[in-house]
Amino acid sequence: MAIELNEDSRFQEVVPPLLPKEVMEEANRCYYCYDAPCIKACPTGINIPVFIRQIATGDLDSSARTILDANILGATCARICPTEALCEGGCVRKEDSRPVSIGRLQRVATDHAMTTSVPALPPLPVSVGGCGRVSIVGAGPAGLGAAAILCRMGYQVDIYEEKGEGGGLDTYGIVSYREPIPVSLWEVNLVKNMGAKFHFGVHVGHDLEWNALRSQSDAVIVAVGLGRVPRLGIPGEDFQGVWDALNLVEATKTQPLDTIILGDRVVVIGAGNTAVDAATCANRLGAKEVTILYRRGQAAMPAYEYEYVFAKQDGVNYRWWTVPVEILGHGHVEALRCMRTRVVEGEATGRQASLELIPNSEFIMPVDAVIRAIGQAKPKNFWEIIGAQTKNNRVVVDPETLETSIPGVYAIGDCLARPGEATVVGAVADGKQAAWAIHRQLVKVV
Ligand SMILES: Cc1cc2nc3c(=O)[nH]c(=O)nc-3n(C[C@H](O)[C@H](O)[C@H](O)COP(=O)(O)OP(=O)(O)OC[C@H]3O[C@@H](n4cnc5c(N)ncnc54)[C@H](O)[C@@H]3O)c2cc1C
Ligand code: SF4
Repeated sequence: MAIELNEDSRFQEVVPPLLPKEVMEEANRCYYCYDAPCIKACPTGINIPVFIRQIATGDLDSSARTILDANILGATCARICPTEALCEGGCVRKEDSRPVSIGRLQRVATDHAMTTSVPALPPLPVSVGGCGRVSIVGAGPAGLGAAAILCRMGYQVDIYEEKGEGGGLDTYGIVSYREPIPVSLWEVNLVKNMGAKFHFGVHVGHDLEWNALRSQSDAVIVAVGLGRVPRLGIPGEDFQGVWDALNLVEATKTQPLDTIILGDRVVVIGAGNTAVDAATCANRLGAKEVTILYRRGQAAMPAYEYEYVFAKQDGVNYRWWTVPVEILGHGHVEALRCMRTRVVEGEATGRQASLELIPNSEFIMPVDAVIRAIGQAKPKNFWEIIGAQTKNNRVVVDPETLETSIPGVYAIGDCLARPGEATVVGAVADGKQAAWAIHRQLVKVV
């Protein structure tokens, strides 16, 4: 679907940029540590003290180049990285009880790059330049991260993407008030300008046969992400008014907002980051009462703490220890039949504890829309199509090279389905790792 850049104030970016005075104050808080722990805590290894010093000296061009050199999705990561768990979590500046605001400083430099000319990134200093053709399936963060490195080494890179635009979930799945679409499309353009050839609207396995792709490439990188939200498996799920959370977010980014009708009372099933995004979207679409239902307690909630706070600030209600057992209605959702749960074995604070339904705990919630936000399906079919070895529905890869059981075929990003590790920065880091592994492999065989 085409991208709809809507002007609605409710969908504009929530976090403001730092003011010029704040930028200098924040940059000058950095100690420019030797062997800086913040660099080690960044999966893409951005040289944080260097880019902060470049900001402090007013050299924003160089600062942006330092960031993009290590992470081509530096503008996205400046907005949506869980910085408190990564770079800012590693920052030693703790005296005044808060670390340096690395994410927001990173945004200063990358915003500058977006509004001025794109800082050219030099070819990578490799002793033997890349000469070969690498195909990438999927133009999300992982695919883009790999493409940027391969292009800078001299490889011919073709990216096949089933959607009409690149960026993956950054473009279609992350709510625009956390990351505006132009940020993601700007990053796609950076990779395009490096020489990568994008083939949009091509679903590999359907529009382009896997064997044809494989035979035309020296190496193939699979970066297909995860699938849609799985079904709940309860009666009434096909009624109108039942949504997949990712479809809802995508609709807010590709359709006029007044065509998305949810109603006044919305229930979101699941308590991860996707559930928060769906709930806050529902709120902005005009729902009067938005409730998140989760089968476990608050301590086991998978969403980041800042996401939870964001949802609470938006007025979202939470109902813990509750599951939906039936959607009631006549073709359209009218109510949700729920039951309460309790732990039968394990720690109530953990996500592994076995649960049971509490007898006679049923209750009915009148609702107008139900949004499923219980995770994303694994790309099992893709591994079957290409014949890669899997274990527990996860593709098996060499941890050093990310090569699958098929020689010359690599898998990166969310499609590796590593529990609890789905982040943009992690996907970009995988892309870099696979790109270097391919280079080592191809220069050996050329
Ligand atoms: C609602 C939501 C909120 C999130 N919030 C955050 C956040 O705040 N911070 C954070 O760091 N991460 C967040 N994430 C996670 C982050 O978006 C992912 O970790 C990241 O996008 C993974 O990148 P990827 O390239 O592996 O996959 P994707 O972004 O899913 O990209 C995969 C691409 O492959 C394409 N594709 C799939 N199959 C085929 C095929 N057969 N042929 C051609 N193309 C194909 C898809 O269309 C897609 O463009 C969020 C995720 C969701 C769902
Ligand atoms: S750890 Fe904190 S203070 Fe030290 S270089 Fe990194 S951002 Fe600056």
